[in-house]
Amino acid sequence: MFELPEVVTLVRQMNDTLPGKTIRRGQLGNSPHKFVWYNRSHEEFERLAAGKTVGQARSRGRWLFLPLEPGYLLLMGEWGGKTLYHSSGAKVPAKYHLYITFEDGSFLTAMTQMWGAMELYQQGEEQNRQYVQGMKTTPVEPEFTLEYFLGLIDELAGGEKRSAKALLTQNQIIPGLGNAIAQDILFRARLHPRHPIADLDPEQRSTLYRAIVETVTEAIDRGGRYDEVDLFGQPGGYVRLMDRNALGRPCPACGGEVVKIQYLGGACYLCPSCQG
Ligand SMILES: [Zn+2]
Repeated sequence: MFELPEVVTLVRQMNDTLPGKTIRRGQLGNSPHKFVWYNRSHEEFERLAAGKTVGQARSRGRWLFLPLEPGYLLLMGEWGGKTLYHSSGAKVPAKYHLYITFEDGSFLTAMTQMWGAMELYQQGEEQNRQYVQGMKTTPVEPEFTLEYFLGLIDELAGGEKRSAKALLTQNQIIPGLGNAIAQDILFRARLHPRHPIADLDPEQRSTLYRAIVETVTEAIDRGGRYDEVDLFGQPGGYVRLMDRNALGRPCPACGGEVVKIQYLGGACYLCPSCQG
């Protein structure tokens, strides 16, 4: 599934490619999938998309906003798989959840993996959608300061017990992060995924903040992670430190063996000595 760096990469590439293109035909999926969230019927989507012109895309967290002028906006969110741009004459994928053809013959397709939203709104109405409405500050926004982060931890530490992994992956507390990037953040911060956030001392809190910002920045600079593909079908350049390929190998910091544990809905890869 895409996390913030992959979505930022898609936005950048869309903005190099799509603005000004006019839609000849917009279609929803030909491959039924009950976990793809649509808010329009096939007919309605097709009718509303036709003739619209693509504006400048933007993103927040795992959500991508693509204006279709005049007056509409395509919202893609919490998705993964392949969102691809194709030149005129390229072969159309056999299966897709979204297929938008432009007047110049080029086209955009999306085929998500597990789930995902592909919705069309009148501009402004997308802000009322669940998960978009009330979204907290994301790690690439200027408001995501150390002060903000420390306040967030204080606020959360007073409530139910929450672990470091839960902070990074649950309930969009820090929107845009997910299971994949969280592993590297925890490694850089030298924290065990189960470490209760209420127990973090001030230095650990600052270290975790820096690990979030640095990991996200590096993954964006490298065009997303290597096990996802970008708008042109190319893998990203960010190679994760802690993932299944690291299992059984020496930890990049101490040389100890990287292990796997199951925790909070997924595998975690970690170095037991660095993240003890
Ligand atoms: Zn280590």
